[in-house]
Amino acid sequence: MKVGFIGLGNMGGPMARNLVAAGHEVSGFDVAGADVEGVTPALSAAEAACDADVVVTMLPNGPILRSVADQVIPAMKAGAVLCDCSTVDVDSARAVAEQARAAGLGALDAPVSGGVGGASAGTLTFMVGGTAEAFEKVKPLFDVMGQKAVHCGDSGAGQAAKICNNMILGVTMIATCEAFALADKLGLDRQKMFDVVSTSSGYSWSMNAYCPAPGVGPTSPADNGYRPGFAAELMLKDLRLSQQAAESADADTPMGELAARLYAEFVEREDGRGRDFSAMLPRLAGRGRP
Ligand code: NAD
Repeated sequence: MKVGFIGLGNMGGPMARNLVAAGHEVSGFDVAGADVEGVTPALSAAEAACDADVVVTMLPNGPILRSVADQVIPAMKAGAVLCDCSTVDVDSARAVAEQARAAGLGALDAPVSGGVGGASAGTLTFMVGGTAEAFEKVKPLFDVMGQKAVHCGDSGAGQAAKICNNMILGVTMIATCEAFALADKLGLDRQKMFDVVSTSSGYSWSMNAYCPAPGVGPTSPADNGYRPGFAAELMLKDLRLSQQAAESADADTPMGELAARLYAEFVEREDGRGRDFSAMLPRLAGRGRP
């Protein structure tokens, strides 16, 4: 397939590289330069998009997606599909899909889970919103860049799945860190805590696969001085998206709201910026009751 790829950063770069390795013809654009082996650099987003069957975007946020969509949609050929893999707000995802459809194009919101490691290894999970027809057309690309693609429903359903998942992740990470901090003060050994909880009803991905305690459980950013991994500010971004969605959908999400507030304090008023989101553990372990 001919693919236009816009946004070749930490995630987009390796995703585009995997498409090239699988034999797709990829034309790429990034404001910071499109230096990915095998990708033909374009001079603009529109140039990368104009000849493509599928245009993939992997951009920082909703406002940037909307501005890139304004540039690429008029340039795309009839029947092509715009597939946004960034994590953005549900409203931006729906607005861009509507704009693409009005121009005679297919559109998907297809955010990912799996991080930079998954992007490099081609093992991402895609959660996808849009028509079945557009999903089937892009499926061969999902199969190259990832190991699983779930068609979640209409436009916006992919972003909805992503922010609901990450709201659970933010909340369970804080709960896990909080429990370790309490265990410390109760004199319970962290390894014993892991041995019990990881096989008891308190288990979770945060505990079992990404344990926030250094030297305990599988290797995680905690074992690397809390270098990300998944940065605290990215978790904050996602928690703000879920709170924004909750507000516009009139959903009551008190735990999500508290998690967003704690990550905001950590990132904006303390030393959380640039640290992994599991660094909530040293933050909480170093404190007493307020
Ligand atoms: P990144 O900042 O490394 O990459 C974004 C790229 O977009 C940058 O290279 C930037 O130069 C480029 N860009 C910005 N404005 C542009 C424009 N107008 N036109 C063209 N290019 C432009 O970020 P990333 O880590 O690759 O994340 C991308 C998206 O994926 C984000 O929405 C993020 O939330 C999501 N995501 C990231 C991870 C992760 O672990 N990094 C995991 C899942 C989802």
